[in-house]
Amino acid sequence: MLVVLKANLSAADREATARALAEIAHGNRVTPFLDATPPVVVVRGDDNVRARVQGLDAVAEIRAEAPYLATRAGHPENRTVRLDDVVIGGKDVVLIAGPCSTETYEQTLAAALAAKKAGARLLRGGAFKPRTSPYSFQGHGEEGLRQLARVAAETGLKVVTEVVSPEDVPLVAEHAHMLQIGARNMQNFALLKAVSRSARPVLLKRGFGCTVDELLASAEYILAGGNPDVVLCERGIRTFEGSSRFTFDLNGLAYLKAFSSLPVIADPSHATGNPTLIPAVTRAAVAAGADGVMLEVHPEPDHALSDGDQALTPDAFSTLMREVRAVAEAVGRAF
Ligand code: PEP
Ligand code: MN
Repeated sequence: MLVVLKANLSAADREATARALAEIAHGNRVTPFLDATPPVVVVRGDDNVRARVQGLDAVAEIRAEAPYLATRAGHPENRTVRLDDVVIGGKDVVLIAGPCSTETYEQTLAAALAAKKAGARLLRGGAFKPRTSPYSFQGHGEEGLRQLARVAAETGLKVVTEVVSPEDVPLVAEHAHMLQIGARNMQNFALLKAVSRSARPVLLKRGFGCTVDELLASAEYILAGGNPDVVLCERGIRTFEGSSRFTFDLNGLAYLKAFSSLPVIADPSHATGNPTLIPAVTRAAVAAGADGVMLEVHPEPDHALSDGDQALTPDAFSTLMREVRAVAEAVGRAF
């Protein structure tokens, strides 16, 4: 059973309650997540144990062990994630844009300036790339992080970039404002636990073979580990449909907005893999309530080292952003 403690307990009271629960469960395992909001403790035991747990003053309620903190059951009001003055999950639709990979300082700066001009608040760009083939460009690693940080400092944009292994979390957190967990790592539980201990907000992308409830369970790892700043991202799932790279799951986005209080953004670039389809899917996502969009933009898509086929040119991107502004305003959002 998932024992939810009262949200306003002091650290000492949380510890004391965890000890009391361990005593009640005597011999059964008790797993506390005391840094989560609200704090929760997993307790094994029969009806007898349950009755005694219920009698504790510090216990708010007892629930099944399904995703809880990531859902509206655990947190009814919409959550916001802040990166200094940028608020994700508020009235503004937040735009995240940049190249698939950071290749050179000049390329990253050109993409960042185009992104900023069109209204972006965050710069994306991979330094550690999770590529399907070992022969594909793997990213520039630490050098790429330095390029991103330099461009961020010069443009005032915040940086979100992917981290692919638990031991790199401190390094990536040092250079980026937000840590991205890619689709291929959505269920890399060691990585989820590592980012749960980081002070940086996390952008968690949905695995293309995973359900939305599995996405929420992965978000739960981060929240239960003590990091409350999680943004979910729908980036397309694999279906029988071969006309686009993946299939953007608009139902999934609506589901996440309805049943989770975490901010949800859309990534039409990876979902469609096709600049012809990106504008329509972007507009649809914003109309459906996305709190932000992430798009790949490259100053010279033909020369990109990764995902050039789906990159928007700065011009196409700026046209699309004008359309997004109109949609955002039509559904009561700002941009
Ligand atoms: C990316 O955003 O750079 C990326 C690799 O996307 P995904 O993990 O969704 O495939
Ligand atoms: Mn990409």
